[in-house]
Amino acid sequence: MVDLKGQYLKIKDEVDAGIQNVIDNTAFINGPIVKEFAEHLSQYMGGCFVTPCANGTDALQIALMALELKPGDEVIVPAFTYVASAEVIGLLGLTPVMVDVDYETFNVSVDNIKKALSPKTKAIIPVHLFGQSCDMEPILAFAKVHNLFVIEDNAQAIGAEYTFSDGHKAKTGTMGTIGCTSFFPSKNLGCYGDGGAIFTKDEKLAERIHMIANHGQRVKYHHSVIGCNSRLDSIQAAILDVKLKHLDEYGKARYEAASYYTTKLKKFDPEEKFFITPKELEKSTHVYHQYTLKIKNNKRDDLKAFLAEQGIPSMIYYPLPLQEQEAFKPITRAAEALEKSKECAYSVLSLPIHTEMTKDVQDIIIKTVIDFYNV
Ligand SMILES: *Cc1c(COP(=O)(O)O)cnc(C)c1O
Repeated sequence: MVDLKGQYLKIKDEVDAGIQNVIDNTAFINGPIVKEFAEHLSQYMGGCFVTPCANGTDALQIALMALELKPGDEVIVPAFTYVASAEVIGLLGLTPVMVDVDYETFNVSVDNIKKALSPKTKAIIPVHLFGQSCDMEPILAFAKVHNLFVIEDNAQAIGAEYTFSDGHKAKTGTMGTIGCTSFFPSKNLGCYGDGGAIFTKDEKLAERIHMIANHGQRVKYHHSVIGCNSRLDSIQAAILDVKLKHLDEYGKARYEAASYYTTKLKKFDPEEKFFITPKELEKSTHVYHQYTLKIKNNKRDDLKAFLAEQGIPSMIYYPLPLQEQEAFKPITRAAEALEKSKECAYSVLSLPIHTEMTKDVQDIIIKTVIDFYNV
């Protein structure tokens, strides 16, 4: 699904030197490179405060902790997402309220969020799934009216940009109260282990986030709140600092690969009789963390098996909507029937996409998809 080795070989000298530098200085935890990387990332994100942390799930957890939500408070979250977006809500004793996603974009819209509002609602977690921004302007306006925090789960869309109706643009992860991302190796900005980061434009909140990620202390050994231990280690920061410089180029490579898939697949199936290619919004760029088709006529599993027989990997992100996950049944309030999330979960199939994709490889994948329908 990804080619991390091919990507590494192109930046090997710089990455190796960065890692060696950390080892030479033995500054494995909180080395100067962590701060440097955070500064570079802040610049990239348009100048927000950045707190690096141990992984994307921690980032979401720390965000909720920093907002001082209390057990029983409700947090709105899409039913079709990676588990982490909702797991942290449950972990903190808050109530996840699941809303449906838009079948076309896989993202939540303000119309679905509206249905979930209750007097207990305190926050919304829009997830920019597969690399494209949610339609944030109406979501932010709704949150403002109802005094809700917005925590963007930007684990899959770092580098994507959203355009507001007045023409101004913002990076995903910088529009809400807090933004969270993951540096898991296969993410668009991935390290060689675990990592994550938390974004905010609010300086006071940034300080609180920083403190919580560091055992709730501002001054060493003086703990003002219960926090956690969540750090980005220096070796990962050194790797990320190199890769950040390539992030836009990586996004472009993914976008080009996606466009190639879409052009060829649409040519084969212009009326969407067999599958639906990803829909791109005008208001957001797409950095294609995943290239995800919706396979019609209940053929998804057969197509996946056919591809596997020909040696082509494909993945189902995600096979079950959250309301059907055992862990969530006892703690969840569902705002509606969540039909679209179910439809997505039962029809999605993601094809390989990464920064090192060649047209030759894509041609084989596309031909195999077409063969499946022609035999
Ligand atoms: C990867 C991911 C996370 C969690 O990140 P980790 O670094 O694996 O903890 C959270 N939300 C979404 C949407 C993700 O894709």
